[in-house]
Amino acid sequence: SLSDRLGGVFDRLRGRGALTEGDVRTAMREVRVALLEADVALPVARKFVDDVTEKAIGHNVLRSVTPGQQVVKIVNDALVEMLGADASELDLNVSPPAIVMMVGLQGSGKTTTTAKIARRLKGRDGKKVMMASLDVNRPNAQEQLATLGTQVEVATLPIIPGQQPVDIARRALQAAKLQGFDVLMLDTAGRLHVDQALMDEMKAVADIARPQEILLVVDSLTGQDAVNVAQNFSDQVPLTGVVLTRMDGDARGGAALSMRAVTGKPIKFAGTGEKLDALEAFHPARVAGRILGMGDVVSLVERAAESIQQEDAERMASRMAKGQFDLNDLRSQLSQMRRMGGLGALAGMMPGMKKAQGALQQAGGDKVLTHMDAVISSMTAKERAKPELINAKRKIRIAKGSGTTVQEVNKLLKMHQEMATAMKRIKKMGGIKGMMAMLG
Ligand code: GDP
Ligand code: MG
Repeated sequence: SLSDRLGGVFDRLRGRGALTEGDVRTAMREVRVALLEADVALPVARKFVDDVTEKAIGHNVLRSVTPGQQVVKIVNDALVEMLGADASELDLNVSPPAIVMMVGLQGSGKTTTTAKIARRLKGRDGKKVMMASLDVNRPNAQEQLATLGTQVEVATLPIIPGQQPVDIARRALQAAKLQGFDVLMLDTAGRLHVDQALMDEMKAVADIARPQEILLVVDSLTGQDAVNVAQNFSDQVPLTGVVLTRMDGDARGGAALSMRAVTGKPIKFAGTGEKLDALEAFHPARVAGRILGMGDVVSLVERAAESIQQEDAERMASRMAKGQFDLNDLRSQLSQMRRMGGLGALAGMMPGMKKAQGALQQAGGDKVLTHMDAVISSMTAKERAKPELINAKRKIRIAKGSGTTVQEVNKLLKMHQEMATAMKRIKKMGGIKGMMAMLG
C-alpha cells in the first residue's frame, strides 16, 4: 500500500545520520512512484514531489541534527496541505432553508450520503432537515430516499410521479420554505459516465435552487477514474466540496490525495460504510498521518479517552511517549481492543496495530484475544516486564501453564515485538506530543 511504500522510504531516511542532496532526490523519486501507483494524478504527484524536494534540500534541513525526521515532517506538512489543511465543515450560515445539492455518478453513494448528512445535521446540529430526490432516471430512486428518510427520521418531499428534476427542485424549495425547514437536501440523478445531458441538468437545478453547498460524491475505490470525474464536474458545476465514499474499502488512497488539487475544493466528509452513521468529517492531518504510516494517533487517543478510564489513557500516553511497551501494555491493549468494540475498531489507527490485527483476525478473531490473555497470565512479572528473558525453556513452561502451544507463545511475542517497534518509532518522532504537533 501507499502507506507501506512511504513508510519504507522514510524509515531509510530516518535511519541515517547525515543526508546528502542525492539521498533526498533518490527518496523523492521513490515517493513519486509510490504516489503514482496509488492513483494520485500525475500533475499532482509531480508538483508535490517538486515542492517537497525544494524544501527538503534547503541547507537548514540537511545540516540539522535530525535531517531524516525533518524531511518526513516536510512531507507530512505537504500531504496535509495537499489534502486541504483544515477540517472543513458545511457552511449553512444563511437564512433558511439552506440548500445542499448532491452530485456525482450513479452508484457513487449520493443517495446514501444524502441520508447520512441529513441524519448528522439533525442529530448533531439539531437542524430541521428535508430531503428531496430529483432522480427520475433510476426506477425507485425517489422511493429509496423516502425509505432512508424513514430510517433516519428525516422528512422527504412527497413524490409526484412524472415530475421533472427542475420542477421537483422548485416544489421542494417552496415546501421547505413554507414548512420552516432549516436545510433542504437535494439528491440528484447520476449517470454511468459523465455526459452533457447530466451536466445540463445539474446546472439547471443549481440555477433554480442556488445551493449553499454543492457536494460532489466520489467513490474512492474508482482510483484514477475518480480524478477524471472530479475534474469534469468541477469544470461545469460550481462545487463547494467533495465527499469521498467507500473509504472503508481497500482504496489505494490516491483519489483522496488528488481530489483537493484537482477540484480546488475541500473534502468535507468521508463515507466509511453502508450504515447510515458511517460518515466522518474529513481531517486532512489525520489522513496524512495514516498515509505516512504513523497511525492515526489523534483519533486513537480520542477514542481511547472515550472508552477507557482516564488514568489508563494517561498511563498509555505517557508510556507511548517514552517508547515503552512491555507485555503488560500489550495485555491492556488487548483488553481495550475488546472493550472498544472488537478487532475491527482500532485497525489502522495505531502504528503497528493494523498488522497485529490482521494477524489476529486470520488466527480466529476475538477468541484469540482470550488465548493471548491466558499466555500473558502464565508469565512471571519479570517476564512481562522484560520479554527478552523468555527463552525456549520458559516458552514451554508458559505454553503448558496457559494450555496453549509454544507456537502461540511465539506468535504473541512476535506481535508484541512489532508493536514495541512501532512505539519506538513514535518516540523517535518526539513522542505523542511531538506527533500531535506534527499532525497539527
Ligand atoms: P447513488 O447511485 O450515487 O445514489 O448511490 P447509492 O447511495 O444508491 O449507493 C450505492 C451503493 O453504495 C449502496 O449499496 C450503498 O450502501 C453503498 N455505499 C454508499 N456509501 C458507501 C460507503 O461509504 N461505504 C460502503 N461500503 N458502501 C457505501
Ligand atoms: Mg441515488
